[in-house]
Amino acid sequence: MKLVRFGKPGKERPGLIDGDGKIRDLTDVVPDISGETLGPRTLAKLRKIKPHSLPLANSRSRVGPCVARVGNFIAVGLNFADHAAETGAKIPSEPILFNKSPSSIIGPNDQVVIPKGSKKTDWEVELAIVIGSRAHNISEAQSLAHVAGYCICNDVSERAWQSEGTGQWMKGKSSPTFGPLGPWLVTPDEVPDPQNLAMYLDVNGKRRQTGSTKTMIFGVKYLVAFISKFMVLEPGDVITTGTPPGVGLGMKPQLFLKAGDVMHLGIDKLGEQTQQCVGYAA
Ligand code: ZN
Repeated sequence: MKLVRFGKPGKERPGLIDGDGKIRDLTDVVPDISGETLGPRTLAKLRKIKPHSLPLANSRSRVGPCVARVGNFIAVGLNFADHAAETGAKIPSEPILFNKSPSSIIGPNDQVVIPKGSKKTDWEVELAIVIGSRAHNISEAQSLAHVAGYCICNDVSERAWQSEGTGQWMKGKSSPTFGPLGPWLVTPDEVPDPQNLAMYLDVNGKRRQTGSTKTMIFGVKYLVAFISKFMVLEPGDVITTGTPPGVGLGMKPQLFLKAGDVMHLGIDKLGEQTQQCVGYAA
């Protein structure tokens, strides 16, 4: 099942994708696609609906972020050995965790704003996990039962703010528009093996990242259990799991985004995103 949110920013409605790839309106069934509706019981109820019995959404609708009211937006750093190498970092002995501000979240095809004063805005295609039920101190064997689904995240990053000051990476990861999520929240029945998904990202039509979740150092099951040792994961929380090689920071010479650039990215079974970069306007 592919869940989606569509409509104007802040006014999105819940929907699902039918067999023809069209959006069907779930407004009369659930209030939104968010923590309150991602538990196993609600997902089972949605699965029983015949998509063609639901009204069609306007085919020109904007697609919003696939989950609303994200509480924790947690990211995993250097989770691909080949990406760690390109940034000159060592392979981590345990997952490196940092936060992205939930206020960075936008729709999959919305514009990305290069922040005021930024010179090093960069791209990162990633597999994101959406939590469906509360998880605290769970085992690896229990992890997948707490996962509502998966989506694409572009973990947009300002490298100078991430690494050249002191303190945590959060500063370089949280600017408004730095967290495109979607287009769909795809439930696990359609993603039987989250560790075997091809992923790519193009900038201005040129392939920059090619990878697979196969080469993740710490996989989905491990990450959910690991993070649940340190905090309560709530329904609707999002964990983005790290990026394969090919970021601008790792290129020689380095290459960063500027207004007018277009990022196009995708992951097997999860669809694709396209964002145009624009300059900051006060
Ligand atoms: Zn990342």
